[in-house]
Amino acid sequence: MDRLEAWFPYPGFRPNQREMLEFAAETAREGGIAMIDAPTGSGKSSVVSALLAESNGRKVIVAVRTISQLSTFIRELALVRKVQPALTFSYLVGKGSMCPLGGEGDPYRRCEGVKAFSSSLMRERAQKGSLVPTEDRVINEQIRKMDREHPLLCPYFIKSRVFVRGEEESGLRMAPSQTLRTRADRVKKEAIAPEDLAGFCNGLCPYETMMQAARGADVLVCNFHHLFNDEIRDQLYASLDVEPKDVLLLIDEAHNCGDVVTGIQSVVLEDRTLEAAMTELSHLSRSMKDVNAVRQVLPNVAAFMEALQRSQKGEDWFDPEQFHRMAVRGTLYKGLEEIVGDLSKIAERVSEKNKSAGIYKESAVESLTEFMYRVYRAGSDMTFLPLYRSAEGHVELEVRNIDPGEKMQAIGKAHAACVLISGTLSPLSAYQKYYFGDLPVRTISLPNSFPRENRLVVCAKDVTTAYRMRQNKKNTDAIVGYIKTFARVRGNLAVYFPSYQILNTYAQACGSRINGKAVYTEPREASEATAALQEFISLPERGKAGIIFAVCGGKWSEGLDYRGEMLRGAMVVGLPLAPYNSVRKMTIEYYVHKFGRDGEFISYTLPAINRALQALGRVLRTPEDTGVLVLAEERFLEPGVRVGLPPWMQDEAEICDLDRFSRLVMKWS
Ligand code: SF4
Repeated sequence: MDRLEAWFPYPGFRPNQREMLEFAAETAREGGIAMIDAPTGSGKSSVVSALLAESNGRKVIVAVRTISQLSTFIRELALVRKVQPALTFSYLVGKGSMCPLGGEGDPYRRCEGVKAFSSSLMRERAQKGSLVPTEDRVINEQIRKMDREHPLLCPYFIKSRVFVRGEEESGLRMAPSQTLRTRADRVKKEAIAPEDLAGFCNGLCPYETMMQAARGADVLVCNFHHLFNDEIRDQLYASLDVEPKDVLLLIDEAHNCGDVVTGIQSVVLEDRTLEAAMTELSHLSRSMKDVNAVRQVLPNVAAFMEALQRSQKGEDWFDPEQFHRMAVRGTLYKGLEEIVGDLSKIAERVSEKNKSAGIYKESAVESLTEFMYRVYRAGSDMTFLPLYRSAEGHVELEVRNIDPGEKMQAIGKAHAACVLISGTLSPLSAYQKYYFGDLPVRTISLPNSFPRENRLVVCAKDVTTAYRMRQNKKNTDAIVGYIKTFARVRGNLAVYFPSYQILNTYAQACGSRINGKAVYTEPREASEATAALQEFISLPERGKAGIIFAVCGGKWSEGLDYRGEMLRGAMVVGLPLAPYNSVRKMTIEYYVHKFGRDGEFISYTLPAINRALQALGRVLRTPEDTGVLVLAEERFLEPGVRVGLPPWMQDEAEICDLDRFSRLVMKWS
């Protein structure tokens, strides 16, 4: 048995799986960056086995985007442990879901605040001889009297710590309590599901318990924010006492990295935040020179926003130089840099004051400071694009990061090995360029391993949702014809549209029932969407079938796993491009400048193709599933778009008009 087989928990490899795992193992051995495009059913989660087989004592960190992906890896690692009983693993989800302490505000900031207060009180009591904080009368009394809405102490953290005397007579060291260590040891050896964690921790902080477990564990599964937020990652690695160069990193659903990385670096300033900042500053001492100076700037920013409110455009770019000139007009400042400097000092004072009152919400002055700093940077850094949105009498400014490349390259270079996997990383060359520029990256693209006869892939050559054809009745009727024909496929079906507006057009044209199937339209509200989806997926077990109308990239299109009878077909109507406006134009120009001819494809077409593939990817989840996948848009046949489809889909797609589609559906059904 070779090393890989020794860590592989299944009786046999799926088609092409061994090749994929050997590729990952080689990357772990030799170092560097690797990208794997592997359709559903390839057994992607077993890549963790390949990394473990070559870890040689290095820690494996798996970054996932959702709880369901986290659970998939926990299940996979529990199986690996059956063949490698010494394997230990732990996981971390965000403090937002793990922290049981109540109160408002950012959970990370709240945690930092209450841990600082708790530590200082515990140390004070330890110096008086009380080494076990949970047994200390004063600490318990203070916890009892604490305002639960504005906590200053964390009982869960206090339970997880004790003090031990150091070598020196006076030295006291805070250490993990025995209760915490015992629980953490169990976590490493048992697979505790995220939903059972709070009960399992029994009054201990779940985050601290998992972190304690993670320190000695072979594998840590965490979420994207732990990896892509620099501050959180630095804290995490410091707590784990590891350096990235000693970590084998696995990033799941890697097609999402770009959006997550740019989202983390983007900042928004709403008009109401500016008003709140004015109020906060008015409560600070007027005798402070910097407060008075900054107070002169805010009306200028408000006037800048007011002027934009009159704009006819919903979203547009603004010139950071113009913002700069307007902000300093009539004030004591010469430039934004000085304003940012003063604001930073004030923001720090406000934050300290709030923390001491148990208020952990980011103050408006802090948000303003962050925003001003980003606008200042946008003046010289083209990866930050300043823009505004105006709607219903409100305006908000945003400095949007449009390029994840620098962060992705830094992460890729820093780790011993970095393996990115996804079912939709097609075409790999485009994602490679987008994330890693000229860095050397090894890539592998796997064919679809599910039986070909279980699917029908169709691409229409005679319909489009391109803007020039939106009012064309013949085209609209033909799309309705495709939807009605598609509805003849047996079982539950989904039709995805590029936008709510286009969805509504076709929902009206098709009516509330098509071919006897009830139509479920994706609601904008998340709670309504969940209830409607539950009803839809339960139809087959009641002998019924329905059809959902949803938006590509929306609540019903990504991350959902409709197995077997839950979904027998998906159709994507149109190419789900983001709306074309001046912001989009500038983003495309930035990428054309960076990558030449490929720039437009990477920044504009690629995300649209990915949204379409994600939507179609809901259907065939197991080798036994059968289904029909339809691209109802002629632009998918253009060479510049078609190249973005996975090779197996390009090979298999039946190119048809409505008549042929009708015959294919009849034959399939
Ligand atoms: S220590 Fe744990 S329980 Fe306490 S605030 Fe932090 S995350 Fe929450």
